Amino acid sequence: MNAWVDNFGRTARKLRISVTDRCNLRCVYCMPEHPVWMPKKEILTFEELTRIASIAARHGVDRLRVTGGEPLLRKDLSVFINMLKGIAGIREIALTTNGLLLPQQARALYAAGLDRVTVSVDSLHRERVLKLARRDVRDGVLAGIEAARAAGFEGERLKINVVVMRGRNEEEVGDITAWAREQNLHLRFIEFMPLEGDKIWSRSLLVPAEEIISRVKERFPLNVGVRKPGETAETYSFIDGKGSIGVIASVTQAFCGDCDRVRITADGGFRTCLFAASGTDLRGPLRSGVSDEGLAEYMKMAVSRKNRGHLVSDPAFQRPDLAMNAIGG
Ligand code: SAM
Ligand code: SF4
Repeated sequence: MNAWVDNFGRTARKLRISVTDRCNLRCVYCMPEHPVWMPKKEILTFEELTRIASIAARHGVDRLRVTGGEPLLRKDLSVFINMLKGIAGIREIALTTNGLLLPQQARALYAAGLDRVTVSVDSLHRERVLKLARRDVRDGVLAGIEAARAAGFEGERLKINVVVMRGRNEEEVGDITAWAREQNLHLRFIEFMPLEGDKIWSRSLLVPAEEIISRVKERFPLNVGVRKPGETAETYSFIDGKGSIGVIASVTQAFCGDCDRVRITADGGFRTCLFAASGTDLRGPLRSGVSDEGLAEYMKMAVSRKNRGHLVSDPAFQRPDLAMNAIGG
């Protein structure tokens, strides 16, 4: 097995698979109200995506995350999870979702072998959710979390993502933490990254990890944070032993040095960084009969060209050609 290693010695171990750019929400930090969707005929089939994942698994990738857009909008997603489950060498399959469709799908996903679910919850207040997601979905998201639990996603198998934005939900960091502790849920706070379709990002809308942590500490004392190599979140356990929170400081404390992630967009763009300006097209070669070895070579070459790190804090930073929903968060 020839692992894909970049010029800075980092090995690709995790593949994020975006199955669609479409979504039933319009989170302001992610996509515009009126997006231009990828043409349906350009979206890779489950067979095409499984083929890419299998090749990646033969070259050292052992963890998959299915995302989007909203992955549960893709018909029969559990069938796809089951296809991925059959790939030799894959140790874990996770899903990131806004949770709205979990009541209908959580059981099938569990039965298909999905290992972990992450649900995005940015506020517990109806009005705030409406402003952030531009849809009135607070209750639907919470029902999704309940459905995930009822289906068997409990403890380490269920996580909550919270994007923190200045003036939108930073006041709620303490309350969301209190709720998660009561519910025995592991939270991960995420810094707002400049990947949104509306191009509203500015430093003034970013709530730095340091501030998020001090807001949590005002209510719940924390031990010193620890970040395991390859993990995006720094984890802080509560001093009283009642669980932990994670903080993903993608902007203020970038963790590019040990990044082991690569991604495939729903239309077959292979990306070695969330902030990469563009992707390597695999759809063209896939649909013109390329061999597995040929596809592997495209991915290997892309990994070898992976940048040392993102340049968000550099004045010369240029946004990727796609918004977050189309890259796959
Ligand atoms: N629709 C699903 C969801 O919302 O969980 C999966 C796709 S979404 C793009 C994946 C994750 O990226 C979510 O947790 C979302 O909150 C996060 N996200 C989206 N845009 C972001 C941004 N500009 N900065 C930081 N996180 C972002
Ligand atoms: Fe949809 Fe997720 Fe983006 Fe919100 S963050 S608009 S739920 S893809």
